[in-house]
Amino acid sequence: MQADDIRAPRPQAPRTTSTQERSRPPRYAVTRIVVVGAGFAGHRAARALSRSLARERVEIVLLNPTDYFLYLPLLPQVAAGLLEPRRVTVSLAHTLPRARLVLGEATRVDLAGRRVHYTDPEGASGELAYDRLVLAVGSVHKLLPVPGVNEHAHGFRGLPEALYLRDHIVRQVEMAGAAPHADECGTRCTFVVVGAGYTGTEVAAQGKIFTDGLHAQLSRPKGPFGPAWRSPDTRPRWLLLDLAPRVLPELDRRLSETADRVLRARGVEVRTGTSIKEATPDGVLLDDGEFVPTRTLVWCVGVRPDPLVADIGLPLDRGRLRVTAALDVPGHPDVFACGDAAAVPDLTRPLPGNAAGDGPGSGEGSQDGTGSGDGPGGGRRYELTPMTAQHATRQGEIAANNVAASLGYGTARAYRHRDLGFAVDLGGVQAAANPLGVPLSGPLAGAVTRGYHLAAMPGNRVRVAADWLIDAALPRQAVQLGLVSSWSVPLDASSPEVARLPGKPRS
Ligand SMILES: Cc1cc2nc3c(=O)[nH]c(=O)nc-3n(C[C@H](O)[C@H](O)[C@H](O)COP(=O)(O)OP(=O)(O)OC[C@H]3O[C@@H](n4cnc5c(N)ncnc54)[C@H](O)[C@@H]3O)c2cc1C
Repeated sequence: MQADDIRAPRPQAPRTTSTQERSRPPRYAVTRIVVVGAGFAGHRAARALSRSLARERVEIVLLNPTDYFLYLPLLPQVAAGLLEPRRVTVSLAHTLPRARLVLGEATRVDLAGRRVHYTDPEGASGELAYDRLVLAVGSVHKLLPVPGVNEHAHGFRGLPEALYLRDHIVRQVEMAGAAPHADECGTRCTFVVVGAGYTGTEVAAQGKIFTDGLHAQLSRPKGPFGPAWRSPDTRPRWLLLDLAPRVLPELDRRLSETADRVLRARGVEVRTGTSIKEATPDGVLLDDGEFVPTRTLVWCVGVRPDPLVADIGLPLDRGRLRVTAALDVPGHPDVFACGDAAAVPDLTRPLPGNAAGDGPGSGEGSQDGTGSGDGPGGGRRYELTPMTAQHATRQGEIAANNVAASLGYGTARAYRHRDLGFAVDLGGVQAAANPLGVPLSGPLAGAVTRGYHLAAMPGNRVRVAADWLIDAALPRQAVQLGLVSSWSVPLDASSPEVARLPGKPRS
C-alpha cells in the first residue's frame, strides 16, 4: 500500500437554504475529484476543473501511467523520423499545475467504497478515495482472430510502438543493404500496414517518404552496400490493406479520394477489399491467396475501449461504458466517463426511426464508434460519438462542467457537438482535410492540417514547428537507437502507452 493512500473527506450535509448552497460541500471539507487517464478527455477535464474550481476547497488528482499527455495524431511523424519523440509529449506538471499527479495505472474501481486501486510504475499498489470520479482511460488495439497476428504484428497506439517502428524501419533498410541476395533485400524493404483508417493511412503515407529517403541516402554511388542493394526490386515497397472498399472508410468520400490519389502517386500499393489470412515470421498471406514476403506488419485495424471499463461491472455499449448525455454513469451520480472509453450518445445523430435497439455500428471499437445510446430522458436512441480526439477533448470539458455542477458549482449540460471536419496528414506538403465541411487537398490542406495540430496541442508548439522546419531543410537521421525491443511492445497490451519491462507480467 502506498504512503499517499488518502481517504477523501466526504462532503457533509449542508445547512443552507439556497438550491446551490444546499448541494455544496461545507467550507472546511476538501472534496476530491479523481480523474483517471490524462489523454485528450482527462487532460481537458483536469484543466477545466483546475480553472473553474480554483478558489474552492477541491483537490484534483490525476492518475496516469506517464507524466505526460500524448498528442496521438502526430505519432506517425515520430515513427517516420520527422518529429523527435518528446515533441508529442506534453508535461502534465507544467500544463496542470493545480492538479496533483499520481503516477500509476488504475487496476480496479470500488464503486461502493468510492476508491480507485492502482499500481504505480515500480509495481507498488495504492488506492485513492474519491468524491467524484472521471474515467477517461481511452482505448487499446482491436484484436482479430487472425493466425499469427498477435505474434508477428505491432500496433500503433503509444509512444513505445512508434519508437519501435522507427528503429525497426531503419534497421530493415540497413540490413537490406547488407543482405547477400536480392530476395532478402526485397523482403526487408517491404512494409505491410493493415487498416486504412486515419492511423494506417498516415503510417503508410509517412513511412513511404521515410524509407524512400533512407534508401536514397544509402544508395549514394560510392555507398557501402553491395550489388543486391542496387537491384530495382529493393526499392522500399509499402502495402496498405483494408477490407473496406476505400481508404479512410469512416471519413468523407472526398478525403478518401484525395488520400488514395496521393498514396498511389507516391508508390504505396493501396489494396482495398483485401485483408490478411495469416501472418508468419517471413511474411503475410493475403485473403486473395498472394503471399507477401515481409518482416514488417503494422496493425491499425482500429481500437476498443481500455479493458478497465469492462472490469468495473457497469453496463457497456459496444464495449464502452454507458453514460448519459451529461456523461454521468446511470445510477452512479458521482461517476463520470468521457472519451474513447465512454459510450456517449451523439445528440446530433438520432438513430433512423429512433427506435430503441442497436445502431448500424461497424462493431465493437470501430474508430467511428457507431452504436446506440440513450439520449436525455432515456426515450430516444442515438448513435455513439466517434472515437476521436475532437470528441474526447470536448467531452472532457463537459464532464468537468458537470462534475462541478454535481458539487453545486454551475449547472449541468448535455454533450452535443457537431463534427468540425477532419485532417489527415499525408506527409510532405500533402494532406486531406475538410475543415467545417470544406474539402481541401494539396499544400493548402497540408498547411491547414499543421496549423490545426499546433493549435490543438496543449504545449510544445514551438518545438514541433522547429522540427518541421529542420525536416524541410535537412535529411532525416538514419540511425536506430534500439531502446524499444519487439517483445516489449506486444500487440495485445492493455497499456500501449508504456513499454513492457523485463521481469514484469505482460501488461
Ligand atoms: C496514431 C493515432 C492518430 C490519431 N489521429 C487522430 C486525429 O488526427 N484526429 C482525431 O480526432 N483523433 C485521432 N486519433 C484518435 C484519438 O487520438 C483518440 O480518439 C483520443 O486519444 C481519445 O482520447 P481519450 O482521452 O479517450 O484517450 P487517450 O487520449 O488515449 O487517453 C487515455 C489516457 O488514459 C491513460 N490510461 C489508460 N489506462 C489507464 C489506467 N488503467 N489507469 C490510468 N490511466 C490510464 C492513458 O495512458 C492515456 O493517458 C488518433 C489515434 C491514434 C492512435
